[in-house]
Amino acid sequence: MQRIIITLDGYSSCGKSTLARQLANELNYVFIDSGAMYRAITLYFLRQHVDRNSAKAIHEALGEITLDFRYNPHNCQSDIFLNDENAEALIRDMLVSENVSEVAALKEVREFAVAQQQKMGEKKGLVMDGRDIGTTVFPQAELKIFVTADPAVRVARRFKELFERNPNITIEEVKRNLEMRDYIDSNREFSPLRKADDAVILDNTNLTKEEQLTIALEWAREKQSN
Ligand code: C5P
Repeated sequence: MQRIIITLDGYSSCGKSTLARQLANELNYVFIDSGAMYRAITLYFLRQHVDRNSAKAIHEALGEITLDFRYNPHNCQSDIFLNDENAEALIRDMLVSENVSEVAALKEVREFAVAQQQKMGEKKGLVMDGRDIGTTVFPQAELKIFVTADPAVRVARRFKELFERNPNITIEEVKRNLEMRDYIDSNREFSPLRKADDAVILDNTNLTKEEQLTIALEWAREKQSN
C-alpha cells in the first residue's frame, strides 16, 4: 500500500475537519486542520493589534509566531499551540471567526502557512483540510476531495456546535459569518477557494458521518493501491 496525501477543501462548515480526522484515524495518517493555523495567526494579530495595512507590521508579527500541533491524550486529537500556548479553544471564538478570512487573505500570511503545511507533507501519509490544499499546497496530491453541503444545513450544523459553548449565539450571527467567510475566501486574490480540476465532489447534505467516511475511504484505498 502506497502512502498518499489526501486533501479536503470546501466552504465553511461542510464537515471537512470531521471527515479528515476520521479518514486519518482509519488510515493511521496524520491529520492537519489548516484552518486552525490561520485562526491561531488571527488570534495573535488581534491580541497584538497588528496593523493589517502595514507590510512591515505583518512581517514582524509573523516572525514572532511559532505554530505546532501536539497530541492531546484527553480527546485523542491534536491541539494547535501558538507560541507554546494551547490555543485550540481560543481560536474557535466568534471574534477570531469574524477576522480570520481577512487575515488569511494577506499574501505574506498565506506564504507563511503554506510553507509549513508543505513541510508536513514531505513524508506523505497525511490528510489536510482547508480551502486551497488541493490547488496550492499539494497540487500533486493523490486524492483531492471537494466537500459541499446545502448552505442551510451548514448553518444549522455550525449553530449546534457553537451553541453548546455559547448559548447567547444566534443563528443569524452564524449565518452571516459563514456567508462572509465564504465570500472573502472565494474572492481573494491569492489562492482563492476553488475546486481543483482533478478533485472529486462529495456532497454530504444527506449523508451521515459514517456514510461519507465509507465513500471517502473507498476512494482513498483505491488510490493507495494504484
Ligand atoms: O477551516 P476553518 O473554517 O476553521 O478556517 C477558518 C478560515 O481560515 C477560513 O474561513 C479561511 O478564511 C481560512 N483558511 C484559508 N485557507 C485554508 C484554511 C483556512 O484561507 N487552507
